[in-house]
Amino acid sequence: MMTFGGGGPSSQQANAAAGLPHAGVPGSLAQKVDEVLKAEPVHDAPVIEFSRSQFDRRPFGLRTFLAPQRVALMGAFVLVVIETIALQAGPFLTQFAIDDGIVKDDYSVVVMATIFYFASIVISSLATHQRIRFTGRLGERLMYALRIRVFTHLSRQSMAFYTDEKAGVLMTRMTSDVEALSVLFQEGLVNFAVQVLTLVVIAVALFLFNVKLAVITFVAVIPPMIVLSLWFRKVSDDGYTKVRNRIADVLSDLSESLAGIRIITAYNRRRHNVIHHVNVVGRHLDANLDTARANGVYAPGSEAIGVLGQALILLVGGHMVLNGELTVGRLAAFLLYLTAFFAPIQQLVQLYNTYQQGNAAVVKLRELFLTEPEVVEAVDAQVLPPIAGEIVLDHVTFGYTDDRPILHDVSLTIAAGESMAVVGSTGAGKSTIAKLVVRFYDPQGGRVLIDGHDLRDVTLDSLRRQLGVVPQEPFLFHGTFRNNVAFANPDATDDEILEACRAVGLDDVIERLPDGLDSAVHERGASLSAGERQLLALARAFLARPRVLVLDEATSNLDLTSEAKIERALDTLLEGRTAIIIAHRLATAMRCDRIAVVEDGHVVELGSHQELVARNGRYAALYATWLAHMTGAATNGSH
Ligand code: ATP
Ligand code: MG
Repeated sequence: MMTFGGGGPSSQQANAAAGLPHAGVPGSLAQKVDEVLKAEPVHDAPVIEFSRSQFDRRPFGLRTFLAPQRVALMGAFVLVVIETIALQAGPFLTQFAIDDGIVKDDYSVVVMATIFYFASIVISSLATHQRIRFTGRLGERLMYALRIRVFTHLSRQSMAFYTDEKAGVLMTRMTSDVEALSVLFQEGLVNFAVQVLTLVVIAVALFLFNVKLAVITFVAVIPPMIVLSLWFRKVSDDGYTKVRNRIADVLSDLSESLAGIRIITAYNRRRHNVIHHVNVVGRHLDANLDTARANGVYAPGSEAIGVLGQALILLVGGHMVLNGELTVGRLAAFLLYLTAFFAPIQQLVQLYNTYQQGNAAVVKLRELFLTEPEVVEAVDAQVLPPIAGEIVLDHVTFGYTDDRPILHDVSLTIAAGESMAVVGSTGAGKSTIAKLVVRFYDPQGGRVLIDGHDLRDVTLDSLRRQLGVVPQEPFLFHGTFRNNVAFANPDATDDEILEACRAVGLDDVIERLPDGLDSAVHERGASLSAGERQLLALARAFLARPRVLVLDEATSNLDLTSEAKIERALDTLLEGRTAIIIAHRLATAMRCDRIAVVEDGHVVELGSHQELVARNGRYAALYATWLAHMTGAATNGSH
């Protein structure tokens, strides 16, 4: 009988029904494909919940984070117990070999003890091997889930979050905090269990071998050890906090120097910058030297206490052996256990630092997870049906912070299919109006309506799908020209992309590029000129063909010829579409159906170009200045 790999015939039929890959593929080929697929490593499709209204709001903590892995952690703990007990069997077997074998002249006992010794090592090695593999996998899974959770959480945040938080700080959350937690899981937690268990096992063994010697150990050796450890903990605590803060300084100085390299070079500050960085790195060095110094005291100090303890036990124990109170084997085993007793204490003190760092990361991540996006989707948000494009600002009052309103009671109606220019001086609030229309922010007072739907009542996806934005500072992604133009519409064909580029006059630029549409565009678009970047952003909006277009100074960096070209393209693009066009250039504003003049967060004038000129107000004054400038330029040019 023919057998199918994987899901068998039923899954094949299901695939065929759903029009999926195997549909219509001859059986023998499908079988081969299944075989190949079976040999591929399986990555479970991660469950990614990306709801804008409901998400995991539980406070983030070590316990809640580990809770789902409870069973796995118990399994790891069992392995740790086996490993520790097997590892600590050595001194016990030595005592057995000395007292029952060597002293009693019975070599077979010695051989037996050796065999058991060997077996215990094998068992403990196997247990350690399994435990490390197991916890390694577990830790990686946890980190994977955490990274996804952090990124999803960041992706859900509103614009206000990104303007308030420094990008460098967010980077730290994603990298060094997650890393610190990773270290805590992978090494810290399990190692902690191993060391504590070792301490307990050895303490019990010491008392079992000889109570008197055990008491001497605990009275004479443990207190100085604890004092020294507490001192070290305090010093290294301070030290590591300092180191952590200073490495953050180093990183932010580094990233700022890289990002601002043009300004730094232009203002001749490279040398100064190096000096500054030397200082920042120097402070990091100092902090590290402090902790190194503390380490330099602690390691030999605890070593010395341990050795002194052993000497003391040798002195007292030797006397007891001579008195016949103790066998030689027991004394030897006691000393061996004592040697192994101090390593876990040292380890635990070091682990405390790992714990501190992990905990600091937990606190910071908890804070991050507690930030709620300001713009959230209502739980009962409706899908916005295809819109005609009427936009209404209804008594909108808005400020980025509550104490400083930027827009005051703005009311504005833009009919479906109308193009509205927004003009006004710098800082008047023009871009702010654009940001409210695409719901980057919610107004504090009043409503923004689109086709009569309050933006707060519709899903964000269905809203933004019908809006196209060309922001004041266009952003280009690392990739090809093609990817960047097709950003909002990844399925677009090359012809469609080229058509969009032609419409905005970008075809000349593409022809000049070595690889045409496949040419690489670098991050932040540094490889393109400012005007070319704007053209690309326009082509992107052109390709998306949204119902409503918002252009924020989209042509401000273009020369007059390019602008004229764009104007023609815009005429086609805007046909039947609603558009909000923010423009400093009156030539652009004039072509719109109506013009709104914004001053200081108020709409002070509204009407068509002719109406506003006739009104003889603010716009008329702007226009007169512009006209005088243009004619002046023209006369100057003709001379
Ligand atoms: P321009 O012509 O220079 O682009 P604009 O009219 O577009 O100016 P807006 O960007 O709307 O001006 O800014 C209006 C006011 O809001 C300015 O005073 C600005 O300082 C302030 N502002 C803008 N963005 C923020 C922000 N993210 N946080 C706080 N204040 C802001
Ligand atoms: Mg602006």
